[in-house]
Amino acid sequence: MDEPELKSLLQRCVDYHGHSCRGQIFGVRIARKGTELAAAESARDMIVVVENDRCIADAIQIVTGTRIGRRTMKLVPYGRMAATFLNLKTARAWRVNLNLGDRPCDDPDLNDAALLMMPDEDLLRWREVRVDFPPHELPGKPQRVVRCTRCGEKVFDFRDLPDPAGPTCVACAQGGYYAEIDR
Ligand SMILES: [Zn+2]
Ligand SMILES: [Zn+2]
Repeated sequence: MDEPELKSLLQRCVDYHGHSCRGQIFGVRIARKGTELAAAESARDMIVVVENDRCIADAIQIVTGTRIGRRTMKLVPYGRMAATFLNLKTARAWRVNLNLGDRPCDDPDLNDAALLMMPDEDLLRWREVRVDFPPHELPGKPQRVVRCTRCGEKVFDFRDLPDPAGPTCVACAQGGYYAEIDR
């Protein structure tokens, strides 16, 4: 990909993300490398696991064409500037991380235009990894839908927890991220 093509790809990411930031550049670079390594024929044949719910996640979605709602993108919030690219047809996966060493991501000595074109070896690190998702984590029809014994809401994809009373959603079993307010 030459410089004008990379710049137009970056612009698509910035448009989607809503502002121009270095995270879009890093996301483009991580996603380009991961896509090249995974060499999937289409976005449907790939799962991308992004390790950060910050700026890079948006760029990685746009560049790869993977989507949370298609189950082709997964968020594992490790807070790291990295993503793993799994080719579902070959079952081979590569993890790509930003590798700036001691330099901060917003280092003013780093130039945005240079970061976009810098050789992969100077910006990234990548390794082949093994990723074993169980079948219910993969794209496709839900294999299990149950009704929570306590709240009565449907729970998809084996996210329910066992309970003597019956299947229970995580929020009912462990307490959720919210508390209902009685007014
Ligand atoms: Zn941003
Ligand atoms: Zn429930």
